Amino acid sequence: VIELGMPSRTVITTCAYCGVGCSFKAEVQGSGDATRVVRMVPWKDGAANEGHSCVKGRFAYGYASHRDRQLHPMVRDTIDDPWQVVSWEEAITRIATGFRAIQDTYGVGSIGGIASSRCTDEEVYVVQKMVRAAFNNNNIDTCARVCHSPTGYGLNQTFGTSAGTQDFASVDHTDVMLLIGANPTDAHPVFASRMKRRLRAGARIIVADPRRIDLVRSPHVEASHHLPVRPGTNVAFINAMAHTIVTEGLHDEAFLRDRCEDVEAYLSFIARPENSPEETEAETGVPAADLREAARLYAAGPNSAIYYGLGVTEHSQGSTMVMGLANLAMLTGNIGREGVGVNPLRGQNNVQGSCDMGSFPHEFPGYRHVGIDEVRGIYESLWGVTIPAQPGLRIPNMFDSAVAGSFRGLFVHGEDIVQSDPNTQHVEAALRAMDLVVVHDLFLNETSRFATVFLPGTSFLEKDGTFINAERRINRVRPIMPSKVGKDEWQVVCEIATAMGYPMSYANAAEIMDEIAATTPTFAGVSFARLDAEGSMQWPVNDAAPHGTPTMHVEHFVRGRGRLMPTVYVPTTEATTRRFPLVLTTGRILTQYNVGAQTRRTDNSRWHPADVLEIHPSDAELRGIHTGDIVELSSRVGTTSLPALVSDRMPPGVVYTTFHHPITGANVVTTENSDWATNCPEYKVTAVQVRVANAE
Ligand code: SF4
Repeated sequence: VIELGMPSRTVITTCAYCGVGCSFKAEVQGSGDATRVVRMVPWKDGAANEGHSCVKGRFAYGYASHRDRQLHPMVRDTIDDPWQVVSWEEAITRIATGFRAIQDTYGVGSIGGIASSRCTDEEVYVVQKMVRAAFNNNNIDTCARVCHSPTGYGLNQTFGTSAGTQDFASVDHTDVMLLIGANPTDAHPVFASRMKRRLRAGARIIVADPRRIDLVRSPHVEASHHLPVRPGTNVAFINAMAHTIVTEGLHDEAFLRDRCEDVEAYLSFIARPENSPEETEAETGVPAADLREAARLYAAGPNSAIYYGLGVTEHSQGSTMVMGLANLAMLTGNIGREGVGVNPLRGQNNVQGSCDMGSFPHEFPGYRHVGIDEVRGIYESLWGVTIPAQPGLRIPNMFDSAVAGSFRGLFVHGEDIVQSDPNTQHVEAALRAMDLVVVHDLFLNETSRFATVFLPGTSFLEKDGTFINAERRINRVRPIMPSKVGKDEWQVVCEIATAMGYPMSYANAAEIMDEIAATTPTFAGVSFARLDAEGSMQWPVNDAAPHGTPTMHVEHFVRGRGRLMPTVYVPTTEATTRRFPLVLTTGRILTQYNVGAQTRRTDNSRWHPADVLEIHPSDAELRGIHTGDIVELSSRVGTTSLPALVSDRMPPGVVYTTFHHPITGANVVTTENSDWATNCPEYKVTAVQVRVANAE
């Protein structure tokens, strides 16, 4: 709901939707509990958005005052009982007592927590600290597990750090864009506009995507090549690109000699005939001649940049594919200056920050492994605890251990894991098997159906802290109104830790950032005062880069020399069969966001009231399906129903849907296949059958 009227003050803050991280000037009326937002104005001085915004950031904030918002802690004895409103003290005591009882019976490793990429850095930091210091284990994971964990692994292996290499402004210097597995028009709209501006100025774009997305052809923009890579064959595709560049002598020998290692082994691997465009054409569905032309265009640049999204990471070879993209950039010397690089388009507002803050079971803040004694010692001495040197459980391991009976308690912060994680049936079985599930969120959701303690959360309008966007930019999030639930989320987490016997407290969120800066070299120069003075900064911010780092790996890679990794293609086991002859892939739409918890509670729902299944005309005709028919979508793990949309945006053999509505439950059909290195689910490849619902 857009509330009109004259504002009495303005507050600069950051959009809480996607990883572009647009800055807004919130125009506000009133004070205290009577505060209301008059309108959100894109801030012209915002470095990420330069005064632009999309329909989500500008209009879809009404969820913060939606009637579904829960404002009081609630408990119940079993998941079949009605919720009872209780005091904060009672809810926190119940959590502390419950978690400690589980640990007394089943061991310290029997509980864990999931941090949220929707929350601030400071909130994520205290959640991982609570798990490590109060739970005494490393069973902390983040919803980034299911989206960009392969980016973390792949870029760390090749470049030495887990983040995109450029700032957004870098695209203004790009001659050739390789866009793969991303649909920025819908998922990162403000950056898509910037890409289009550059394309209209003469840059060229290669789009590798099974769908004919907007950037293939839109007003005044036409891709040089649309390469419809069949879902599940990305690594064969990227190897064929690199093979073409190497065997045609288009690689940058000086860059490889001066900046990279393991070069000879990689060159001999990639030159093998099985990696050629002609040998991989049948597998990938990309005509060899088109692929060769695209590879030559990328190699010619002179400034070529890679932009990618979840169509790269959410595969059984997601990490391999990220390394394949890094290889391509290194092969052609497209790294370490403006206009080039490898750029993951992060999905959620703070997925970069939540990863940076040590919310992985194997890493402390700043991507430092828990097994490194020196790093562990920093936290052990500061926090006064002993921390295990072994990594904890990842989210899918938590679920498996719960079903097996050894994992019994979970703190879920700002994520609806039942709707967003794959194979809903397995997630529900895991949660049902636990003794205590605590959900800390704005709304009762699919996951809270399995909780016995619910803690109300705060919206971004009530938060004080920072989000980090896809270009590593640390943006301030400033409170526009006081917490509607009487506490900040970081305070709640501190109180749980304290009730469990580990005293934890801060005066304010700025003090949490001070602790992050004191213990994390890449954040050494960050403070709220500096961010307020400078507007925003891109990490690393330290003595070597006191004002931040727009472009990384300029003279040398973070790991020293860039490492070329042989990327052997291994076909997914999620193969089509006669019973499941189509491949389902998934994505987002402009007006909705992820599981829709926020956008479905705004006027945006008018524009996308339901998820639909896009299907190619030939596949539809074969099944007697017309646009608007309700179809049954089945995989080897489950079945759901949704309306069909017959569309030639899809290639034959591939169907597509979004995942914004719980009633559709796209993840009822997605499987537990996952990336070999990180367990990121293979959301983008599910063998399915489609038929008209109730057809005989
Ligand atoms: Fe918010 Fe992303 Fe839209 Fe910017 S592009 S307004 S960050 S949803």
